[in-house]
Amino acid sequence: MSPIAIGIHGGCGTPDRALLPEHDWTQTRAHLADALRSAWDVLAGGGSALDAVESAVAVLEDSPHFNAGHGAALTEAGDHELDASIMDGATTEAGAICAVRRIRNPIRAARAVMERSDCLLIAGDAADRFARQAGLAIVDNGYFTTERRRQALASLKARARRGTIAAASEAERHGTVGAVALDSRGNLAAGTSTGGFNNKPPGRVGDTPIIGAGTYARNGVCAVSCTGQGEIFIRHAVAHDVWARMRYAGETLKQATDAQVFDVLSAYKIGAGLVAVDAAGRVVAPFNTLGMARGWIGPDGAMHVATHKEVERVSVLERA
Ligand code: ASP
Repeated sequence: MSPIAIGIHGGCGTPDRALLPEHDWTQTRAHLADALRSAWDVLAGGGSALDAVESAVAVLEDSPHFNAGHGAALTEAGDHELDASIMDGATTEAGAICAVRRIRNPIRAARAVMERSDCLLIAGDAADRFARQAGLAIVDNGYFTTERRRQALASLKARARRGTIAAASEAERHGTVGAVALDSRGNLAAGTSTGGFNNKPPGRVGDTPIIGAGTYARNGVCAVSCTGQGEIFIRHAVAHDVWARMRYAGETLKQATDAQVFDVLSAYKIGAGLVAVDAAGRVVAPFNTLGMARGWIGPDGAMHVATHKEVERVSVLERA
């Protein structure tokens, strides 16, 4: 049987374990498991890597525990601007939206841009209008707000006044969700969705909707979804560079992703992480912060989820 695999992340801005009650962590892991199961059902039923990625990311966007969709970061103006992208490793087709305010599941809008327009990236109000015309769910901007993000914004603004912004935790600042998948036809896909940085200036766009920076997939090599300070990921074309290291320098997935996260990105002293899968279904999820919500199901069907260093083996899933 040809291998299938799914890997997901919920951002490298995971809070210290002691900062949230245990039921929050239990629910975070449960939502990671839900996202993995939804993607596995697609893949095990012979569905496409693109459908699996879209499905997993949409589950994470609907969860309040991650910085994407419901639960997204707030701008300094106190509202939300969301970015997302998706890439099909079989064709190199891709779609993205940025600075949108009304689309309930930005990943679905990115997919619609890829499949139903001649564009790759649509921004702002025009993207919201495009999604409405495409029949996607539209919500008020306030739908994305949670109490945790309100507190993070207040705390960052207070730090800015006191001049202690550099001491803010990764969790106060940012997060993202993403997924990568390999389907039974050998096709790879990647998708990423984010609210970006808390307290970001309106109009700021990070790496998430930039193909080659936050998201990249090419059949036969790898699919990659990134999290961390987007400006640096754009400058280093991180997701594409993982592919290039493997394709041109013959590095393994682990070598290529470790080099990016622990050498290139860590040199800037930024929080960084990613999830990636190769053509054999091997999944890696390196990060350099306290924690990164993540999970994967490899070709053996074993589901793993984690928020901090220790990894929990949840169950073994069957293939149809
Ligand atoms: N990469 C995202 C951005 O810069 C943030 C994150 O992943 O934490 O918008």
